[in-house]
Amino acid sequence: MCAMTAGQRGRRVLVLDSSNKIGKKILMSGGGRCNFTNLYVEPGNFLSANPHFCISALDRYTQWDFIALVDKHRIPWHERLHGQLFCNDSAKDILAMLVAECEQVGVGIRTHVEITGITAIDNGEARFRVQTAKGDLTAHSLVVATGGLSIPTLGASGFGYDIARQFGHSVLPTRAGLVPFTFSDAMKGVTERLSGLALPSTVSVPAATFSEALLFTHRGLSGPAVLQLSNYWQLGETFSVDLLPGENLADWLKAQKRAHPKALLRTVLGERLAKALVLELQALLWPARAETAMTDIPDAELLALAGELQAWTLKPSGTEGYRTAEVTLGGVDTRELSSRTMESRLQPGLHFIGEVMDVTGWLGGFNFQWAWSSGHAAGQFV
Ligand SMILES: Cc1cc2nc3c(=O)[nH]c(=O)nc-3n(C[C@H](O)[C@H](O)[C@H](O)COP(=O)(O)OP(=O)(O)OC[C@H]3O[C@@H](n4cnc5c(N)ncnc54)[C@H](O)[C@@H]3O)c2cc1C
Repeated sequence: MCAMTAGQRGRRVLVLDSSNKIGKKILMSGGGRCNFTNLYVEPGNFLSANPHFCISALDRYTQWDFIALVDKHRIPWHERLHGQLFCNDSAKDILAMLVAECEQVGVGIRTHVEITGITAIDNGEARFRVQTAKGDLTAHSLVVATGGLSIPTLGASGFGYDIARQFGHSVLPTRAGLVPFTFSDAMKGVTERLSGLALPSTVSVPAATFSEALLFTHRGLSGPAVLQLSNYWQLGETFSVDLLPGENLADWLKAQKRAHPKALLRTVLGERLAKALVLELQALLWPARAETAMTDIPDAELLALAGELQAWTLKPSGTEGYRTAEVTLGGVDTRELSSRTMESRLQPGLHFIGEVMDVTGWLGGFNFQWAWSSGHAAGQFV
C-alpha cells in the first residue's frame, strides 16, 4: 500500500522482502479469503499505549477507500458478522490487486533479499544505505514494514524492532495477540474432552467484554470470543465466561424447579447447553448435587450456581504464543513517530508502518485496515 501510494506520486520505489514471496499473511488470512477490512472501523477497535495515534491515518485512508480499490479491481466480496468483509473467492485477489497497482506505477519488488545492515548517510539525495547479501542500495526514505513476531514460519522476524532500536526508538514489550488460551489445571482435560464444541458466550476481563462464539479445542479455548479477549488479557489473570448470555438463568432454574421437581440439574441444563458440557460442569461445579433432585436443592444454592454458570471464572496458564497468534501486541512506540507521516521523530526519512508499530486491531479486518491506512499515510510523504 505504501509502495503503491508513493509510486502514484512518481517516487522511485523498491520493496525488499526476505521471504520467497510477498504478502504471505494476506494469502493465509481469513481462512484463505482475507478479511480485508471492516465496515465499522473506530479508534476504539485498536490497542496502543498511545490510543489517539491511529485516528489521523484511519481518517485519511478509510475502509471506504479500500473498498473502492477492491471494487475498481472487480473483486467480489461479502459481509459477515460484525461488518467483517471477505473476498468471495480468494485472498489471492487482494494480493494480485496490490501487486498490479504497484506494477502500474513502476514499483520494483525483490524477494529473497536478506538485509544485513542499515546506515544513515548524507550524500545529497540519499539518507540511508541498505546493505544486502546482493549488494548495497541507497534511498532518500526508508519504510520499515516488517510486521510483528506472529507466525515465524511466514517470515516474521524481530528485524523491524532492531532497526527501531538502532535509531534510538523505544520498543514497547511485545506479546502474542488474537491467540487461543491454554490451561494446566482441570480445564486442560475438559477442553480436550470437549474439543470441537462451540457455543455463544460473553467473555470478560476488567478491561473488555466480547459476545462471540467460544470454541473448545484439544489445546485449550479458542473461537472469536477468546481471540478478541486475548488482546486484553494479562498472564496470571482470570477471565469470566457467561455460558448463557442475555438470559436470567437464576429465574429460569427456579421455574424449572417448580415445573420438574424430580428432575436432576444436569437434565434441566441439558436443554440449554450441550450435554457433554453439562457433564463437565457438573463435575467441576456441583459434584455433591449430581444425583439430587431439583426440589431438594435450596433456591440460594441454585442462585449461586446460576451465578457461576453466567460468570464461570477460568485461569489460563498461557496462550498458544506466536506460533498461532494472528498479531503482535506492543512494538515501536508511536510517541516517537508522526501520526501524519509515520516518520520517526528521531531519524528523518525513517518511517514505520503496519503491525511493527504499537497499534493492534481487534479481530475482524482491523489489522489489515491499519496496514492500509498507515501505509497510505507514509506513502504520501516518503
Ligand atoms: C493466520 C493469520 C490470519 C490473519 N487474518 C487476518 C484477517 O483476516 N484480517 C486482518 O485484518 N488481519 C489478519 N491478520 C493480521 C494481518 O495479517 C497483519 O496484521 C498484517 O499482515 C500486518 O501487515 P504488515 O505489512 O505490517 O506485516 P506483514 O503482513 O507481516 O508483512 C511483513 C513482511 O515483512 C517481511 N519481513 C520480515 N522480516 C524481514 C526482514 N528481516 N527483511 C526483509 N523482509 C522482512 C515478511 O516476509 C513480510 O512479507 C492475520 C494474521 C495471521 C497470522
